[in-house]
Amino acid sequence: MIVFVAQDGMEGLWSCLMKCDICGKQAHYGHSVSHSKQHTQRRWLHNVHRSTIIINGKKKKVNICTRCLRTQYKEAR
Ligand SMILES: [Zn+2]
Repeated sequence: MIVFVAQDGMEGLWSCLMKCDICGKQAHYGHSVSHSKQHTQRRWLHNVHRSTIIINGKKKKVNICTRCLRTQYKEAR
């Protein structure tokens, strides 16, 4: 699912956003903090998958987060 292109160190890692095409949710960034308080960059990825869904009666392949995927199959009350 996640394709990292190893270039210069972390470059490939940071360029992959794992963005949801429906809600626009994407990775967010912060620091890992060790016991010695050393900060290193890290990021949190959302659970985004490549999936085929029906939009306006047409099948479409999109990157979609599991939260949106669940909503697609939910019945209206
Ligand atoms: Zn989403």
